[in-house]
Amino acid sequence: MRLIKLVSNLGYGSQKDVRAMIRDERLTTRDGVPLGLEARVAHADVLLDGEPLDPPQGLVLMLNKPCGYTCSTSDPGLTVYSLLPHRFLLRKPVVSSVGRLDSDSSGLLLLTDDGQFLHHVISPRRAIAKTYEVTLARPLRGDEGEVFASGTLMLRSETEPLLPAGFEATGEQAARVTITEGRYHQVRRMLAAVGNHVETLRRTRIGGLTLDGLEEGRWRFLAASEIEAVI
Ligand code: URA
Repeated sequence: MRLIKLVSNLGYGSQKDVRAMIRDERLTTRDGVPLGLEARVAHADVLLDGEPLDPPQGLVLMLNKPCGYTCSTSDPGLTVYSLLPHRFLLRKPVVSSVGRLDSDSSGLLLLTDDGQFLHHVISPRRAIAKTYEVTLARPLRGDEGEVFASGTLMLRSETEPLLPAGFEATGEQAARVTITEGRYHQVRRMLAAVGNHVETLRRTRIGGLTLDGLEEGRWRFLAASEIEAVI
């Protein structure tokens, strides 16, 4: 591929910006030889300022989302994209979140430029399990596990009951909830349906993937084995 197009499509800048990078000899081969304006290259053979380029299409990353950030690209307020390098928003195709976490929710959020991966993870047919730790405004009733496992729980303004979901009390006013669907505000509405109110909600697992020590507000690329663990 043409060097200019390759680097520009990765979001590092316009074609004009990339021409300037080439003139400044910031784009080189792995041996440090500056690349020219007409160069045709493979992604893996190019360094920018001595560093490998971001992964090509098929990029998947995890973010430990803090509360107070939305997953919308058009929100004028704080968005999860402000926690990533700006160039991820300029990539072609663009990076977007895999499903959403509410602004008031925190934890594991995946982002990708790979439409197939995105649809795979959010597809109801795949039923990928997602686990949430919640703290609650009121003590547990004791029957939440039974109600959630029943497959008959109907949320307000829905026409289909929820699929069976996992529930584990982790304290008098705390629980771990595992769902395989992704309905709007699902976990909050499930707890409301059993007479409670979610005070904090944190996603800790998607498929076999956990945050694994990633600090709040930080992101990292997923290794191929981790992508496998999700799907
Ligand atoms: N369920 C919710 O209620 N909110 C989220 O952000 C995710 C799942």
